[in-house]
Amino acid sequence: MAVINRIAGLADEMAAWRRHLHAHPELSFDCHETAAFVAARLREFGVDEVHEGIAQSGVVAVIRGRGEGPAIGLRADMDALPMDDLSGTDHVSTVPGRAHACGHDGHTAMLLGAAKYLAETRNFAGTAVLLFQPAEEDGGGGNVMVQEGVMERFGIEQVYGLHNGPGLPEGSFNGRPGPLMAAVDEFALTVRGKGGHAAQPHRTLDPIPAGAALVTALQTLVSRERDPLEPLVVSVTQFHAGSATNVIAPEAVIKGTVRSYDAALRDRTERRIREIAAGVAAVHGLEIDVDYSRDYPATVNDPDRFAFAAEVAREIAGADAVDEATPPRMGAEDFSYMLEARPGAYLFLGQGDTPFCHHPAYDFNDAIAPVGASWFARLVERAQPAASA
Ligand SMILES: [Zn+2]
Ligand SMILES: [Zn+2]
Repeated sequence: MAVINRIAGLADEMAAWRRHLHAHPELSFDCHETAAFVAARLREFGVDEVHEGIAQSGVVAVIRGRGEGPAIGLRADMDALPMDDLSGTDHVSTVPGRAHACGHDGHTAMLLGAAKYLAETRNFAGTAVLLFQPAEEDGGGGNVMVQEGVMERFGIEQVYGLHNGPGLPEGSFNGRPGPLMAAVDEFALTVRGKGGHAAQPHRTLDPIPAGAALVTALQTLVSRERDPLEPLVVSVTQFHAGSATNVIAPEAVIKGTVRSYDAALRDRTERRIREIAAGVAAVHGLEIDVDYSRDYPATVNDPDRFAFAAEVAREIAGADAVDEATPPRMGAEDFSYMLEARPGAYLFLGQGDTPFCHHPAYDFNDAIAPVGASWFARLVERAQPAASA
């Protein structure tokens, strides 16, 4: 089997939904019009239940198959980005400063295509639970859905998602067991000294040499303390201090980001940043406040669920079009929270040589929608075969 025939026949419809969503992008948790569009389509398809207002503007649909069985979760994200759409397409964004530049319009259309097929055919046991979430780019809508209890409420036992992949061969699947995308943390370090006249440094506590020492010390976290085979990024991205050449500033603010895959290494890096800040403060005789905040955790594929998802991908795309050892990425993804709650897998679906996600000229490639929708549908049919099948 390649792409499911019936789903290939939905290609124009999926493209039309996708282009409508592309022209009307919404941000973060404010995906209400998108959610209304999704819910209206789901009701047209005759799914069994449509639940709106989950994580503010998320939608959950339940499709019952034939006979008793477990529940499988399929997820798509619906939100756009706060940037101008320079794609130059006929379906360009109608809202200045908002663009579907990450292809979540395509993810939503693919899951709608799978929903239409599954509601028509019902060639599976148990239930398919479709999770349309807001706020992937900003706010962690997937986390809010998990916190609101969607996994327990709908009895979901395993969960799957995908992301389009610019630069990967069109229609190919790419993933890996274990960590695929990084955990993201941010830190803000405020060096509190005592300002004064630049000609009288001895009457001040200068935060700039202390801040410089701090930045230098932070470099050793990756270069000297970490196992060279363990991925870790510690990037200082901001250093703000001072307003005049003849004034010693009272404080300096240093900010940056930490990216990691391993939970223990993540914990250790936070602890070491706090210790290094305390040590530099002691050496320089001033105070350093540490504000460390954790954003999305690492996106980690369950090995068994990934093997199953890759097997289904091979069925759809052919063995040559499935890369099961794609290098992990340092970007982040809030599907990670769903994968923390339930075993599952997340794959990239190549969309060919197009501008990368978050580029102003980016546009989702509608040609891959039947491939992604077929994968979603076959995951359900293969994981929960109908007794009569
Ligand atoms: Zn994005
Ligand atoms: Zn995205």
